[in-house]
Amino acid sequence: MRRPIIAGNWKMNKTISEALGLVNEIKEEANKTDVEVVVCCPFTVISEVKKAIEGSKVKLGAQNMHWEDEGAFTGEISANMLKDLGVDYVIIGHSERRQYFNETDEIVNKKVIKAIEKGLNPIVCVGETLDEREKNRTFDVVKEQTLAAFRDVSNDGMKDVVIAYEPIWAIGTGKTASSQDANEVIAYIRSLLENKYGIEISEEVRIQYGGSVKPSNATEIMNETDIDGALVGGASLKAEEFLEIVNF
Ligand code: PEP
Repeated sequence: MRRPIIAGNWKMNKTISEALGLVNEIKEEANKTDVEVVVCCPFTVISEVKKAIEGSKVKLGAQNMHWEDEGAFTGEISANMLKDLGVDYVIIGHSERRQYFNETDEIVNKKVIKAIEKGLNPIVCVGETLDEREKNRTFDVVKEQTLAAFRDVSNDGMKDVVIAYEPIWAIGTGKTASSQDANEVIAYIRSLLENKYGIEISEEVRIQYGGSVKPSNATEIMNETDIDGALVGGASLKAEEFLEIVNF
């Protein structure tokens, strides 16, 4: 039985006081649910959010990291630095990073490997553009991205991984994939894992859906057989909306 995981991706939002306001509202409710609740914060608020969630069930996530241990990489943050702050999860290969910061499948793979090596749980994002969907390339693209992201990742390493299927055309647009379509793609990702890692791992890895998840569609999405959670952008910025999703 896979434990549902709902993660908020705050993106480039929230000053320290705003972040504390949000997380203090979330943590009370998060303590009452069996759903794993994660907040993926900007780097600048991680340490304060960590203190605020101490003793609660909320898990701490970052939104990116570099694949090298240290060195001359101005502006970058390493896996060791995230571990140092008590981070549990790190989003890797979000479509906004692929689109605006030229993250390739190869870079995503290096980051996934480093995150696992350092004991962080990567939330690895895959998903097609609108153009790719319209050309019926969804399954090909998702296959390419998934296989590339986990190149040289062992069975053991996969146990730490969460995958987020996020069709790019559904992110921040208000458009959602139908829950059946999302489930179909997620079941396909699971079949790719089964081919590569065997049934045990494929049944264990949690796969989220992301793309305009909101209180009004969360139940339907979460009721699908292969969807184990949600990666939530916009709706994670307001405690009330995020908690409605958590309590789907
Ligand atoms: C995201 O940032 O991963 C996301 C899915 O955003 P939104 O929920 O706003 O579409």
